[in-house]
Amino acid sequence: MPSRPDPMPTLFVSHGAPTLPLDPGPTGPFLKDLGRRLGRPAGVVCVSAHWDTQSPRVTGSPAPETVHDFGGFPEALYSLRYPAPGDPALAQRVVELLGASGRPAAVDPKRGLDHGAWVPLLLMFPAADVPVVQLSVQSHLDARHHFEMGRALHPLRREGVLILGSGGATHNLGTFGRAPVESPAAPWANAFDEWLRAAIEANRSDDLLAWRERAPDPLRNHPTPEHFMPLFVPLGAATGPGRRIHSAFTFSTFSMAAFAWS
Ligand code: ZN
Repeated sequence: MPSRPDPMPTLFVSHGAPTLPLDPGPTGPFLKDLGRRLGRPAGVVCVSAHWDTQSPRVTGSPAPETVHDFGGFPEALYSLRYPAPGDPALAQRVVELLGASGRPAAVDPKRGLDHGAWVPLLLMFPAADVPVVQLSVQSHLDARHHFEMGRALHPLRREGVLILGSGGATHNLGTFGRAPVESPAAPWANAFDEWLRAAIEANRSDDLLAWRERAPDPLRNHPTPEHFMPLFVPLGAATGPGRRIHSAFTFSTFSMAAFAWS
């Protein structure tokens, strides 16, 4: 791919509930505007919280299916499709870069795009004309592992590829449904969210990597880490401090925060 003078920024977005396209709140318009401002990347490598594997896996299908990996939501949600093409060559490149960094990865030729990928991408790139490759998380491994995956993928930025983490800045699924969607933020979730913003904006990667020891109420905000791990891939691919580009809460405890790094 051609090299570009300004590398693509890297991004982390919180995708919230699968209903985001039907009930966009303030985050839907934010994601639409974000996509417009990005233009048209050469491709997207999307790290989704909803694909959790023992070792890194990358979608290799030239036409990945839209996976409705959830139950009990309105019927309209199941008719949504995101027909973006895949990019087998980019998938192979991701595998090679991860392998060269000592993280053996493999292409999954069948896997489609889960809602961690297609929900934000549907809003960001509604024309579905940007090729998408999805990368899995390994929630049994730590933040450093995901950070190092991001570091390995750094060269893709100069090739116009967007490295996008999709998870949740706070994500305690056990609290889902206890408060209406438009509720004020719970203090413990807000404290974590603000700690995260401050650490990213001050480029304190050591604090971020040690989040289980240093963040406030880490296990209340992430009883399981799979929605937080996608943040460390764009962080690892960054070269400087990031900034928070969106802030909102849904259901009182789910931060919809998004971050960008240059
Ligand atoms: Zn999710």
